[in-house]
Amino acid sequence: MRIDLRSDTVTKPGPGMLDAMMHAAVGDDVFGEDPTSNELEAYAANLFGMEAALFCVSGTMTNQIGIKVHTQPGNEVICEQSSHIYQYEAGGIAFNSGCQVKLIYGDHGRITAKQVEESINPDDSHKAPTALVSLENTANRGGGSCYDFDEILKIKAVCEKHQLGFHLDGARLFNALVAKKESAKEYGKAFDSISICLSKGLGAPVGSLLLGKKSFIGRGRRYRKLLGGGTRQSGYMAAAGLYALKNNIERLAIDHANAQSISEVLRSKPFVEEIFPVETNIIIFKVRDPYTAASLAAKLKELDILAIAISPTNIRMVLHLDISSEMVDDLCNTIKKL
Ligand SMILES: *Cc1c(COP(=O)(O)O)cnc(C)c1O
Repeated sequence: MRIDLRSDTVTKPGPGMLDAMMHAAVGDDVFGEDPTSNELEAYAANLFGMEAALFCVSGTMTNQIGIKVHTQPGNEVICEQSSHIYQYEAGGIAFNSGCQVKLIYGDHGRITAKQVEESINPDDSHKAPTALVSLENTANRGGGSCYDFDEILKIKAVCEKHQLGFHLDGARLFNALVAKKESAKEYGKAFDSISICLSKGLGAPVGSLLLGKKSFIGRGRRYRKLLGGGTRQSGYMAAAGLYALKNNIERLAIDHANAQSISEVLRSKPFVEEIFPVETNIIIFKVRDPYTAASLAAKLKELDILAIAISPTNIRMVLHLDISSEMVDDLCNTIKKL
């Protein structure tokens, strides 16, 4: 049995989700007439207590539209150096928004209010005007680490003081909410805009949502069209997203517990030098002799276990809803024998 831990994006829709998709009410969403997309947007906005939402095909699109609406060309965006918006969106901040970034070296992907305040450019004609602060929660390259909500509120206060936009890349925000027993509505109050992914741990085949004020989302809708992201009978995709939001949030705790069990076995192995703190569904660990990350990933692949070597020394494993408890037991036994 193949155990695919490369990403929580590899999940496939189960019978309940497929059934919801098959029976979705649809219309032309570019005309605003797709009832299921409208329902999904309203449902998500309500979940976070925010005014409006925009359904897009990917989290890259929701982040990029968010950044575009918050900025003008020539502005600067503050983010952590390992953040998805900087590392994995194909240079989109420069291409789509004409902005540059100020990178902060954080703690497992998290930055502090003090670091943000020190990174804001002074009002000086040599400098790019700082326009936006973007956080990532959970932080993917930080090993699925979660922010302390008090720090988020401190960063919010800095943004308000300096009149900066405050965006959250919440591709895996639900993992953080479940792990830390936090409320979506508190996040909705803290940020100007939030991007959430339906196609990560929540298990939908496609889709992300951008949340914000009505006027913000209205401007975002225009950029979605500009990027070629206006889709027609999108209700078939939206139905999967609605199903995911209604059924697959609480079960993320199972993925977190599975990540803990696997990390405990890894911790006992001499070839594991270090494991990032495991807070949610991601395990990042550093390997040492006789393995490199690539050679251990290759060895695991021979054993039908797929994981990604994310650097010469580090391997990432991601838990998700298609990993059963039998698979976790198998995996732990296999690792014990290595
Ligand atoms: C996956 C992910 C995204 C969005 O990725 P898409 O593949 O474009 O949906 C954004 N941010 C983070 C942290 C992610 O892990």
